[in-house]
Amino acid sequence: RVFFGSALATLATASLPLERLLALAADASVAADVPAVTGSGKQVILARADVADLRASLRGQLLLAGDEGYETARKVWNGSFNRRPALIARCAGASDVIKAVNFGRAHELLVSVRGGGHSISGQSVCEGGLMIDLAQMNSVRVDPIGRRARVDGGTLLASLDREAQAFGLATTAGTVSHTGVAGLTLGGGFGRLGRKFSMACDNVRAYDLVTADGRFLRVSADENPDLNWGLRGGGGNFGVVTSFEYELHPVGPVLLGGVLIYPVAQAKEVLTFFDGFFEAAPDELYVDTTLVTTPDGNKVLVLDTTYCGSIADGERVLKPLREFRKPIVDAIAPTPYVKQQSSVDGTFAYGRHYYVKAGFVRSLPPDLVEAMVETFMSSTLPVTPVLTAPQGGAISRIAPDATAFPYREARHNLLVAAAWNDASGDEAHLTWARAAWKNLEPFTRGFYVNDNNADISQRRVLENYGSNYARLATLKAKYDPSNLFRLNANIQPHA
Ligand code: FAD
Repeated sequence: RVFFGSALATLATASLPLERLLALAADASVAADVPAVTGSGKQVILARADVADLRASLRGQLLLAGDEGYETARKVWNGSFNRRPALIARCAGASDVIKAVNFGRAHELLVSVRGGGHSISGQSVCEGGLMIDLAQMNSVRVDPIGRRARVDGGTLLASLDREAQAFGLATTAGTVSHTGVAGLTLGGGFGRLGRKFSMACDNVRAYDLVTADGRFLRVSADENPDLNWGLRGGGGNFGVVTSFEYELHPVGPVLLGGVLIYPVAQAKEVLTFFDGFFEAAPDELYVDTTLVTTPDGNKVLVLDTTYCGSIADGERVLKPLREFRKPIVDAIAPTPYVKQQSSVDGTFAYGRHYYVKAGFVRSLPPDLVEAMVETFMSSTLPVTPVLTAPQGGAISRIAPDATAFPYREARHNLLVAAAWNDASGDEAHLTWARAAWKNLEPFTRGFYVNDNNADISQRRVLENYGSNYARLATLKAKYDPSNLFRLNANIQPHA
């Protein structure tokens, strides 16, 4: 600051043009050249003047190590990732995103894109590169007549749900309300309304996208339709989405929902009954299942239900499930949709360490149920749930090649998860989760790119997109030939 003040004073007396004065003032705001890392892992030095120019050009902030706000901005939901970007561009709008993308490309930097910062893989924060951070771009505007919501790229689900529910509207969003809309929607997006209205990606009517060459594109069925296909499940491979336009549907605002809890001794018979029951259930019904240890050490099975039709229909549909075995807890009751959407938020607190493995299954046959319960019982650690989240319904009535997301025929997403407080728990939890997944993976076919840690090989990403991969690789070559956006389930550019 002393330097800045005296430099300005000296220059002012030398009566330099104002433009030059401002440029020098900006330059003074960056103390030194900045070491950084390129996409290919090379160490480079960014000239202080170049960084200062970027800083001066942004409406938002450019944060460097040591700046106020840097330590908070680099933190993401999964506390396993303690990375330090060379630069964090806290974007205030699309113009900032364009400038950050251009800077990242011009200097060949390793680039990460942060929407809600809630990924399991932690890939929205990078070590030594440029983090394009959309956390401050979080506005939602609902058009209740046209039933549309314009949602900025850094918005969390809670904001979308609450704004839309003010008009009795909603669209498919995930089950934990502090998740970001962007990462969730670009990977696919499952949630309590998914069987009725299909996935979040199927409800996007238009995107504003900044591509790797710094262009700002409108993407919809009529404009850039190739990207309109690729953004539906292709993740963050094609650019930075600054805004989504979602279709909304009348929902609630009060729905029938809540949990049924059973002792683990009943888990096998309840899950087996549930499999047949759910196969015939209407699209309005969502039920996820969790084998989990309660804070007081009891092992239980939790079925979390939501019925998005009328309360009376929900009571009728859920009756056989509620009556099959007497649960320890039956908390199913009329519940505001927004309350239901945040009902498990506390279970997934920000900053703990998390590891997840997941894959899709067509049903829950007895041998899989047996493996799920045995796997769950094999853990002596406090937080190692085995879960399923439902699909089917409207999701499965869209062809696998109609969007980049290919797994339309799956009925459930099967997951093992582990959560712990700090690095001292890494070995025990990772060892358990990897062994657990060895038991369960053989029952799966394909996986949800959003539900895995970053330790998936390139080959597995390719196999996972199946026959859609070639089209995705061509699209990647067209819009991101240098693979600027590589911190994701990465599609290699291939013409
Ligand atoms: P971020 O960490 O910010 O981003 C993840 C990746 O998305 C980035 O690395 C980048 O590649 C890309 N990205 C982010 N923002 C943008 C953007 N604006 N433009 C371009 N690319 C971008 N998924 C479901 O479908 N349904 C669920 O119910 C569900 N529940 C979950 C519950 C928990 C507790 C957690 C941790 C995850 C859950 N997920 C669920 C998975 C979720 O979809 C992913 O974690 C998703 O990546 C979160 O998005 P984000 O924007 O918060 O993440």
